[in-house]
Amino acid sequence: MTILNVAIIGSGPSGFFAADGLLKQGAARVDMFDRLPTPYGLVRGGVAPDHQKIKNVVKVFEKCAQLPGFRFFGNVNFGSDLVLSELLSLYHAVIFAVGAKSDRKLGVPGEDLTGSDPATAFVGWYNDHPDYSHYHFDLPQSKVAVIGVGNVAIDVTRVLAHDPDSIRETDIADYALEALRKSQVKEIHLIGRRSLAQAAFTDMEIRELCHLPGADLVIDPQDVELDPLSLEDLEKADPAHKNNVRILTEQAKLGLGNKPKKIFLKFLRSPVEILGRDGKVAGLKLCKNKIYRDVDGTLKPRAQSEFEVINVERVFRSVGYMGEPLPGVPFNPKTGTIPNASGRVADFPAGKVLPGLYVVGWAKRGPSGVIGTNKPDALETVELLLQDRADLEKKTIPADGNLESLLKSKNVRSVSFSDWQYLDQLEQERGRQKGKVREKYSDIANMVAALNKRPALG
Ligand SMILES: Cc1cc2nc3c(=O)[nH]c(=O)nc-3n(C[C@H](O)[C@H](O)[C@H](O)COP(=O)(O)OP(=O)(O)OC[C@H]3O[C@@H](n4cnc5c(N)ncnc54)[C@H](O)[C@@H]3O)c2cc1C
Repeated sequence: MTILNVAIIGSGPSGFFAADGLLKQGAARVDMFDRLPTPYGLVRGGVAPDHQKIKNVVKVFEKCAQLPGFRFFGNVNFGSDLVLSELLSLYHAVIFAVGAKSDRKLGVPGEDLTGSDPATAFVGWYNDHPDYSHYHFDLPQSKVAVIGVGNVAIDVTRVLAHDPDSIRETDIADYALEALRKSQVKEIHLIGRRSLAQAAFTDMEIRELCHLPGADLVIDPQDVELDPLSLEDLEKADPAHKNNVRILTEQAKLGLGNKPKKIFLKFLRSPVEILGRDGKVAGLKLCKNKIYRDVDGTLKPRAQSEFEVINVERVFRSVGYMGEPLPGVPFNPKTGTIPNASGRVADFPAGKVLPGLYVVGWAKRGPSGVIGTNKPDALETVELLLQDRADLEKKTIPADGNLESLLKSKNVRSVSFSDWQYLDQLEQERGRQKGKVREKYSDIANMVAALNKRPALG
């Protein structure tokens, strides 16, 4: 049996779960590439700093990286440093695990005003992500809005509502902590377009938001009174949705509360315009919605001719992440995903499966689900890849070494897993000096400079 050579593009949860599945079956050698010098995707650059326990999942990925046959090549961007034809000449199969790095647009006037930003940028900023660390999120405004009621919107709200001292020991970016210390934000309006029964946040996240030491979650009792269609579907809903309704029905009874900050949670409202003055956000115009049942059976919001304006001065748009096309790889612009049949990449729009190409994670199914959701998703793809092995094995692959010489010929300074472990130690040491769990590098040039000073290995 030939051992397959597999390239995985992306080192987030889905890439690691796929690598683990292949390596543990002794079926393949895996070279994993990431455009950043650092692994772990959104576990490092997305998960909120006050959710440190969740980041412990990297221990599973660290174990995977020690399995025989695994190699990591960080700081290698698919599409520029390496292109598809090169990978196809070096590997039996390529798995795309590139996630969804951009944001969905609201599509309303005023979206591009100063002070209207996607949650992707804010999240990347407070997490020291090299793509966003040069952003400036000063927060002199007292009233802000977060549009969307998924877990990312809840994260953004929580970070804005926290007492900065309560998160100073985490791995939050220093500059973000500084900006949060100076923040004047007192009111956060969290806006959902459907009813409470359809909200996308998980019960754990909303419960946490109800119990913040420095902020009251305020919800109008009218907003927890469900319409007949929502009530009908709630009967068949999963326990998490039922819990959401239970938790917020209780919360609505508590009124305004007496904590210094307020989070006003509002349902059945859609933004129709972000209002501006002198090029800056000066308000948010919302229309009220009613729930109706669409022909496909799902419950959707329908705009009513009833409007309200909230005088917020900053808007965070959190209506979903969105994939971006990769050179030479099929892409569905509507879903922002790589078209596929259960993980086998298919061309678009015809849907014909392309041999040797596979996809996992958010790039496969879109930006939904928690870290654990990516495990069965990745294993489904791995299983199909192994079903295809008789065909994949027919391809002649050059001996080892060609990849390194290719990267060298292109002057690409790749980062090995051992390099990353060195950076990891440096970050933890920098953190210790400041009483934090970690002080991340936020700039790729600084990471490479630190690695270039790395003492030679024994
Ligand atoms: C803000 C936020 C907070 C979250 N919080 C939680 C949480 O608390 N708990 C939880 O369970 N889940 C959470 N999730 C969900 C979880 O992070 C995702 O389910 C998971 O990260 C998706 O994994 P992925 O591998 O598909 O994508 P990603 O994690 O995005 O990984 C994709 C990787 O591909 C790399 N890449 C992209 N393009 C290229 C390219 N051209 N060349 C090379 N490499 C490339 C990226 O650098 C990245 O490392 C959160 C998500 C977000 C957005």
